[in-house]
Amino acid sequence: MLAELSPALIAEVQRAAKLLASKQRICILTGAGISAESGIPTFRDKQTGLWENYVAEDLATPDAFARDPKLVWSWYQWRRQLVADKAPNPAHDALAQWQYHAQSSNQQLTLITQNVDDLHEQAGSTVIHLHGNLWSNRCSQCETPYQGQPSQGQSRGSYNSEDSINFDEGLISCSHCGGYVRPDIVWFGESLPVQAWQTAEESAANCEVFICIGTSSLVYPAAGLAQLAKQNGAKIIEINPDPTPNSIIDITLAEKAGMVMPLLIQKITAL
Ligand code: NAD
Ligand code: ZN
Repeated sequence: MLAELSPALIAEVQRAAKLLASKQRICILTGAGISAESGIPTFRDKQTGLWENYVAEDLATPDAFARDPKLVWSWYQWRRQLVADKAPNPAHDALAQWQYHAQSSNQQLTLITQNVDDLHEQAGSTVIHLHGNLWSNRCSQCETPYQGQPSQGQSRGSYNSEDSINFDEGLISCSHCGGYVRPDIVWFGESLPVQAWQTAEESAANCEVFICIGTSSLVYPAAGLAQLAKQNGAKIIEINPDPTPNSIIDITLAEKAGMVMPLLIQKITAL
């Protein structure tokens, strides 16, 4: 792995590791890019197969569900199937290892994700989800959580085989009010879960270093967390192979997270 990273990048990783090892309060925000190397497409990737003519941002909205609930439900069923057999990559594993290590040092690591997949949990991390969880559903009208059959989406275990999703499967109606059941995910234009957002804001405002991993920094309010951290004196590290509009970065590690994170964590835990 080392051979594939340039000497300049390795020097930047070393600089980031030194900074991180010297600080106690670290806040980490991950986005779809951290799961890209596990085979889960980001929203900036073009959709494939059945969904190639749709733009993700047009499906993940309350308006889209109101207009065509079956279309949106089918898209989520497809995304669940896509994620079900995916495993954490070295970036998820490295973060979990760092969290474990931090318990015995006096570092306080808060891991926040915009992702709706469960790859951080699969790797063994404790994580705050800002945008919900792909495996939960609730009523679109009365908001009652939907505890359905396993085949209707309560856990990743039910989506393990290629043929486990029936695309003709109709919409599910809430037993309390008759409304359609929808994924319990924060769609574009919706508010974030209050408790998760409060914890994220507190952690960003109080951290000494804020790390953005695999996020385009375009989707607010999550993208504002780095700015909040910066205003309160934190240093900002970004890990992303492509440039982002984030202009407040102190250290950029311009490489895939799966390449950089294992080296970064190895260096931090060795210091
Ligand atoms: P995004 O799709 O807007 O941006 C992804 C970013 O990741 C880009 O900047 C890209 O350059 C970067 N990237 C790509 N490959 C990378 C790699 N190997 N290592 C590091 N970075 C890499 O994603 P976002 O900023 O998370 O925001 C979009 C919304 O999409 C979020 O609300 C999220 O809930 C949702 N989403 C989630 C998933 C998931 O759960 N895995 C997948 C797609 C979209
Ligand atoms: Zn209901």
